[in-house]
This record gives sequence, structure tokens and C-alpha cells, in this order.
Amino acid sequence: MTARIIDGKMIAADLRGNVTDAVHRLRRDRGIVPGLAVVLVGKNAASEVYVRNKSKAVTESGMHAFDQNLPESVSEADLLDLIARLNADPRVNGILVQLPLPPQINSHKVIWAIDPAKDVDGFHPLNVGRLASGLPAMVPCTPLGCIRLAKTVHESLAGLEAVVIGRSNIVGKPVAQLLLTEDATVTIAHSKTRDLAAVCRRADLLIAAMGRPEMVRGTWIKPGATVIDVGINRAPGQEGKRASKSRIVGDVAFAEAVTVAGALTPVPGGVGPMTIACLLLNALRAASMQNGLPAPVI
Ligand code: NAP
Repeated sequence: MTARIIDGKMIAADLRGNVTDAVHRLRRDRGIVPGLAVVLVGKNAASEVYVRNKSKAVTESGMHAFDQNLPESVSEADLLDLIARLNADPRVNGILVQLPLPPQINSHKVIWAIDPAKDVDGFHPLNVGRLASGLPAMVPCTPLGCIRLAKTVHESLAGLEAVVIGRSNIVGKPVAQLLLTEDATVTIAHSKTRDLAAVCRRADLLIAAMGRPEMVRGTWIKPGATVIDVGINRAPGQEGKRASKSRIVGDVAFAEAVTVAGALTPVPGGVGPMTIACLLLNALRAASMQNGLPAPVI
């Protein structure tokens, strides 16, 4: 069997196109231009790349980007001050603080300071609680992207055996909550799970989010299962290439998985592009709701 490759790049491009159209209509019909503030503290190379990509995507979708770059040495009080100003700014509908933050700053405090209505990352406890209670909420972007990708394979996730590996607040827990909302039967596995391979083999839908390069082997996958690989890991380059060259791999051993799974996301080009597309969707929804309009269904 050769798995169908779930083309996250194409699905994300499609979603971004729909968001861009909706932004255009909002501007034309209501004079509203959604605005997103991406806050970056310090000079972490990976974070800089993420933030640059996010800001570019925001501008390309027709929204306003309010980038905020603060020095590594910024105090917690100054960052909280900035968040308060962004909360009060009517041009800013969404606020995203790129994590991790330097050690002098308590990231929980910063996340709690964001207006929950502008919390496009969905990390504020109010949004976490709303999601857990089955109420409308701002939902973290990567989990949203995972569900959308799974739904390109399964019209409905109801009744599927879903296994999520990883229980972080950013991916594992919210994706499990969303799967419950979709009526899947959900197991959350983590580093203390016994016989992880056997747990995974039960899954009709397997979501791997543990940050362990190519840990999920082909033998862990139920034949025909759908596999969503969230992991982004740097691994050494191929034999014969320069030692300094590295490549990006997921949490799933792709070459093995592709011979067993029914459908599979690649890394890169799977979940990654969906995260940015879902961020734009969240910003659009936030702008609509803050202006008393229904959240667009896209
Ligand atoms: P994290 O906060 O480090 O959480 C990792 C989770 O995996 C933890 O719950 C941990 O269990 C579990 N885990 C670690 N080793 C394990 C093992 N050997 N067996 C079973 N479970 C294990 O990571 P994260 O932020 O959720 O990110 C996970 C991966 O997704 C990373 O590769 C990250 O780069 C990637 N990611 C991608 C995107 C995207 O846009 N594509 C977005 C976010 C994250 P314990 O709780 O027991 O420690």
C-alpha cells in the first residue's frame, strides 16, 4: 500500500485564498481591515523566521501587520505595557506573542494579559477553558490545522479511534479536545505511556506531536490509518552530503509509514503551512466578532 500524501501546502494555500477573499469583502462592504500584532522578543533565529513568515502571510492576505520587535533585555513590565496598549488599540484585532520568551519574563503572565478576544493563538486560560467546555473559543492554530487536514481524508471524525502522542498545551491537549468535539474516541499518549507502539496501532487517526525525530515506525501504524505528523525536527543530512547540512524531519518515519498508512502528511509541507493559514483564519474571525459580525465559516 502507498499512502495518499496529504498536501498541506496546497490545502493551506486554498484556505489562505478563502481568507484573503473574506478580508477583501470585509474591507469593501464594512470598511474593516483586520490587524494582527506579532510580538517578538530577542533574537532567536528560529523565532525570527517564524515571525517573518507570519507577518508576510498577514500582509499578503490584505490584513494589517503591526510587528513589534523588542530587545532580549526587555523587562516583563515593559512587555505587559505593550500588551495593554495593543489590547486597547482598535486597529489590532489579534495579538500573538512568539514563544519562548527570555527567562526574566513569566510567559504565563504575558499570555494571561492578552485580551481573550484578541488571543489568536488560543493560549489564554479563558479560551482553553471554553474549548474544554465545548464553547466557541479562539483555538490554537496548529491543532486547528491538524483537524482540517484529517477532514480532507474523513468527512466525519465521529467514532474514529484517535491517538494523539504528546500532551503539550500548544498541540497535544488542544488537538485532543478538538477531536473530542468531533466525536472521535481519543487517547492521549505521552512519555510515560506503556507500550506506545501498541497504543498507536489502535489508531484510525494518529497525530504525532512529541518532537522526537522519526520515532513513529511503520510497524506502529494500523494499515490504512490516517497519520498527521506535527513534528518539526532537525536531523543530520543524508550520507555523503556535507556534515553541516541538516534536513527537517517529522516525528514519523515517513519512508516506512508511507507503505502502511492510508493517508499521511509530509514534513515539511504538511501541518506547518496549515498553522499559518489557521492563524490568518483566527485573525479574520477575531476582527469579525470584535465588530459585531458573525465569524465567517471558511
Ligand atoms: P513539547 O511541549 O516538547 O511536548 C512534547 C510532548 O511529547 C510531551 O507531552 C511529551 O510527554 C511527549 N513526548 C516526548 N517524548 C516522548 C516519547 N518518547 N514518547 C511519548 N511521548 C513523548 O512539544 P510541542 O510544543 O507540543 O511540539 C511537538 C512537536 O511539534 C515539535 O517537533 C514541534 O517542533 C512541533 N510543532 C510543530 C508546529 C507546526 O506548525 N507544524 C507547531 C508547534 C509544534 P511528557 O508530557 O510526558 O513529557
